[in-house]
Amino acid sequence: MITAHPGLPEFDYIWPESLIEASKFLADHPGEAIPFMGGTDIFVRMRDGFIKSKYLVDVKCLEESDRITFDPEAGLSLGAAVNMNRVIASPEIQQVYPLLSEAAHTVASYQLRTRATVVGNLCNASPAGDTTGACVVLDGTLLVHGVDGFRTESLKTFFLGPGKTRLKPGDIVRAIQFPLPPPGYSARYYKLGRNASGDLAIVGVTVLGFPDDSAPSGYRFRIALASVAPVPLVPLEAEKILTNEPITPENITKAARAAMDACNPISDVRGSARYRKLMVRNLTEKLIREVWQKIGNGR
Ligand SMILES: Cc1cc2nc3c(=O)[nH]c(=O)nc-3n(C[C@H](O)[C@H](O)[C@H](O)COP(=O)(O)OP(=O)(O)OC[C@H]3O[C@@H](n4cnc5c(N)ncnc54)[C@H](O)[C@@H]3O)c2cc1C
Repeated sequence: MITAHPGLPEFDYIWPESLIEASKFLADHPGEAIPFMGGTDIFVRMRDGFIKSKYLVDVKCLEESDRITFDPEAGLSLGAAVNMNRVIASPEIQQVYPLLSEAAHTVASYQLRTRATVVGNLCNASPAGDTTGACVVLDGTLLVHGVDGFRTESLKTFFLGPGKTRLKPGDIVRAIQFPLPPPGYSARYYKLGRNASGDLAIVGVTVLGFPDDSAPSGYRFRIALASVAPVPLVPLEAEKILTNEPITPENITKAARAAMDACNPISDVRGSARYRKLMVRNLTEKLIREVWQKIGNGR
């Protein structure tokens, strides 16, 4: 008999009492121990045989990892253990970083979001992660605890490939930190999925724009694309067009085409590479227009 999902393999559950203890244990067992938060990725991957860890190190309850802290000058610190439903419900996030709530809301179902975390979504490093684009365009920085203490990791250089990041054995993300968003900004995330809920993105497009007198166009845009490259993709040429050339319908179309040209998607069960590229063009154009309507007063 073939069992498609044979069930979880045996493992030891480790509950450290401090970040120092957790980092040391993880560093002492490279390839054998792995940290986890909500477990919504890890348990599926263990069940399917992609992760064969002897030890699962629960890092949820360590040192304020479950806190959301907002400071009107310093910005937002989102603890690694904060689940997506708390992100969606947070008044400060709704008010100052609504893009984060919007992106978290597209992840699976309410039930799954009571476990799934934004930091788990980032550390899992799936190119299809729904909250990754929001974290990138909001200029997120990870606060990482390793065997040598704390350091920060910019999301700009964090992703190395599918499932691969700059984290080393012993590294635990304690929080993700966001500066205050630029004044007058607006942002949107659009997830194209096969159904209304519970599926990974065929394509995910995040666009953030804001007025900036130092830019030749008077505006700057940040764009991030999901499911179209081995890592979350920032189409730099598209951003440059919107910085350097007047924001006109023609230049918005030109920028959307540049975003499409930057993509290198695969064909899979969710969609062909060609379909993904065309959807990136269409959705990027749609979202730039929507954001432009808000920040440019519809000019
Ligand atoms: C049914 C189902 C539907 C899903 N739908 C979606 C969807 O629509 N969109 C989407 O983007 N994802 C989806 N996912 C994937 C998953 O839910 C998300 O990626 C989730 O955000 C992962 O968070 P987690 O806390 O559960 O991570 P975990 O499973 O605990 O960990 C994920 C990875 O991150 C690492 N990690 C976790 N925390 C830390 C830390 N503090 N420091 C260092 N490394 C850490 C782990 O070692 C592991 O490699 C779905 C999963 C399932 C099972």
